[in-house]
Amino acid sequence: MNADYRDAAWLSQKHIVEGYSTRDMGAMLNVSYMTVRYWLVKHGIPRRIGRDGNKSSRAIEKCRLSSSLRKHTPEEIENCRKAKIGAKNPNWKGGAYCDGGYIYIKARHHPYANSRGYVLRSRLVLEKTLGHYLDPENIAHHKNENKSDDRPENLFLCRDVGHHISIHRKRRSK
Ligand SMILES: [Zn+2]
Repeated sequence: MNADYRDAAWLSQKHIVEGYSTRDMGAMLNVSYMTVRYWLVKHGIPRRIGRDGNKSSRAIEKCRLSSSLRKHTPEEIENCRKAKIGAKNPNWKGGAYCDGGYIYIKARHHPYANSRGYVLRSRLVLEKTLGHYLDPENIAHHKNENKSDDRPENLFLCRDVGHHISIHRKRRSK
């Protein structure tokens, strides 16, 4: 994978999988964090949960792909409650947290855990079904667009960000 701030695979590997901030990533390639942010948005890559970035822009970018510029639906809140996890708080109950409607599970020894040792539950579910780890550029799409509904039948494996975006475009143009 080429270290290129314009490359979707590199951006999602560093930002989502390895958990680097846009500032760190900018420093790696000698560009500003605004440049990195610009390309993340352009590729529709959700912003990592991190110290950088303000809450509102982070929330908006996270929702870009879900065709739903909104807060959690009551259904999502209920799913989080059922899963007994705390919103945006990895320390709550220790094992899981919910951010932007997505559920993350503690998986310390997972090869692609983020910098805090968590993996998207949707990815873990797909990996269990497939019997192998997903590639970092793969994306788990939620068929019913409920990002916390990680039932195997609701998940669809996308090759990469571009594939995922094309699925959402198709849905929207219906
Ligand atoms: Zn999707």
